[in-house]
Amino acid sequence: MRYVLRAAAAGKLEDGWLYLPNHENPGLDTACLMIVSDADEDMQLIASERGFSVEGLDTPTIEGTVHAALQFQDSPSDELLLESFVYYWRFDAWLPMPGAPEPPPLEEAKLEWDREFFDSLAAERPEELCRTEGCQRGAIHHSVLCRVHHFEMIRKEPCPFLE
Ligand SMILES: [Zn+2]
Repeated sequence: MRYVLRAAAAGKLEDGWLYLPNHENPGLDTACLMIVSDADEDMQLIASERGFSVEGLDTPTIEGTVHAALQFQDSPSDELLLESFVYYWRFDAWLPMPGAPEPPPLEEAKLEWDREFFDSLAAERPEELCRTEGCQRGAIHHSVLCRVHHFEMIRKEPCPFLE
């Protein structure tokens, strides 16, 4: 791993794909397999046969992770190169900063976003009932619907909140 990262940092990594032994985060001393591009061969199959069944990244992307690390250090340490590689490999995103926490899973992020929207809706008016049949909630200002039904109209999916 260390060798591949250093080669990429030096701009000397051959074009190909890097394969890893498993889904665990690789360390600098993790053995990995670099397969040089050859369109005629099934790289994944070759890698699996040699015990490296997990697809890592391709050379342009590895170089991209070096570039991302360069934003933080002029000559990035092996550790930073590794961190940048692992971040992209796991999250499909460039390392935002050294020591960056893992991004929240998508569902969690969406729920937060939904919550923010729900909380931004105006208060319900007790004297003006929601127009949805059978709904006993009050309509919010500038809408004929309560918070829940206004949410569902805008987002076009069930509202996960009541309060
Ligand atoms: Zn309603």
